[in-house]
Amino acid sequence: MSYRHKVLTLWSEISVNDEETRILRTPSRDLPIPLSREARDQIQTLVDAFLERDDALGLAAPQIGINRRIVIFRNKGFDEEGWSKKEKDYDLLINPRITQTRGELVKGAEGCLSCPSIQVEVNRFPEVKVRAFDRHGNRISKRYADFLARVAQHELDHLEGKLIVDCEGPVYFPREKKAFFERIFAQIP
Ligand SMILES: [Zn+2]
Repeated sequence: MSYRHKVLTLWSEISVNDEETRILRTPSRDLPIPLSREARDQIQTLVDAFLERDDALGLAAPQIGINRRIVIFRNKGFDEEGWSKKEKDYDLLINPRITQTRGELVKGAEGCLSCPSIQVEVNRFPEVKVRAFDRHGNRISKRYADFLARVAQHELDHLEGKLIVDCEGPVYFPREKKAFFERIFAQIP
């Protein structure tokens, strides 16, 4: 399967991707509000990259090489391979910030397109409030709970250059790749 937009990954089948890792590790900058022409193009590029895939629950702009604070994620249908891809079925957040968290941290295994073949157990808040702008540059405020809160926190972490491999929980990977991942984990900055 090939896609028009490449998703950057920390490693390939054989080694660490140094340049892609550098971009994924760079904290992203806010888009200008009101949105400039360039900002609108960057938003559209992320939307296109997200909608062309069936295997992404969410995507953050740095994952496609744009170090700007834009994230997009499904807001339902997490178990479906072929989801509807209608505008109401995903959330697009510009310059998002978590303004409130509630509850005790909850453990859960997460995967990431930028960290292929592994899952990591990550602690997330069960409820978060997020302030952001929509694709027209209007202020919005969102409240996410449970799995959707987990997805939102995962995507927002990308904007800080933080990935699941930075979390402290146990890492799961295919047994036959043990030697490979031990080598890779020792090399990731
Ligand atoms: Zn991710």
